[in-house]
Amino acid sequence: MNSATINHAAAAIRSAILAHEADIECLDREIGDGDHYINIKRGCEAIASIEAELAPLSATDALNKIGMKLLSTIGGASGPLFASFFMGMSKSLKASATMNTLVLAQAFEAGVQAIMQRGKAQAGEKTMLDVLIPVASTFKQLADQGEPTSVITTRLKIVTGEGLESTRNMLATKGRASGLGERAIGHLDAGAKSCQVMIEAVCDLVS
Ligand code: ADP
Ligand code: MG
Ligand code: MG
Repeated sequence: MNSATINHAAAAIRSAILAHEADIECLDREIGDGDHYINIKRGCEAIASIEAELAPLSATDALNKIGMKLLSTIGGASGPLFASFFMGMSKSLKASATMNTLVLAQAFEAGVQAIMQRGKAQAGEKTMLDVLIPVASTFKQLADQGEPTSVITTRLKIVTGEGLESTRNMLATKGRASGLGERAIGHLDAGAKSCQVMIEAVCDLVS
């Protein structure tokens, strides 16, 4: 992975998010304040606007710059959380001398842990983490076993779908929906949906 790959992935994520405007928006309207799509779209556009600045950077520096850019552009709860993901990933990659699939999987996991620390949340609270945590552990396990990219991406797409669906019958204990109690049951979490869309886009790009 280098900054060209990162820019490429960011472009794929941006078009996937734009293509899912309706579903993402309606989820945050049902059990949130309706701005999640706008927040994510703003983040995607901010990354696109620094594409040329990212190009000469190492993967580590590019990811850190993306994190800082997201911190200053996306509002809401999700802005600092996504920012923490990229900064956590950057820090993990920096500590590694080589780059391979396992190193990438470990960096992804470090990014997810940074979100957990920042948001003080865990699995089962009806958030983006219900997609990200199972993806991180499956990614690491498959990379550790030396599975080929196509096997990893196929499996991760299934795990993201299952993670998203698992939020439907959860009570929300973090974020805006936590004030809704039982009324949140039956609805998918918006942040879990946007993460599923983003991860699927990257899997499709690399497989
Ligand atoms: P806001 O709730 O401030 O309007 P967004 O709508 O952009 O922000 O993002 C809401 C999403 O953020 C939720 O759907 C959920 O997935 C995620 N989220 C909220 N709080 C947390 C948290 N503490 N940890 C992890 N994810 C969270
Ligand atoms: Mg919102
Ligand atoms: Mg908001």
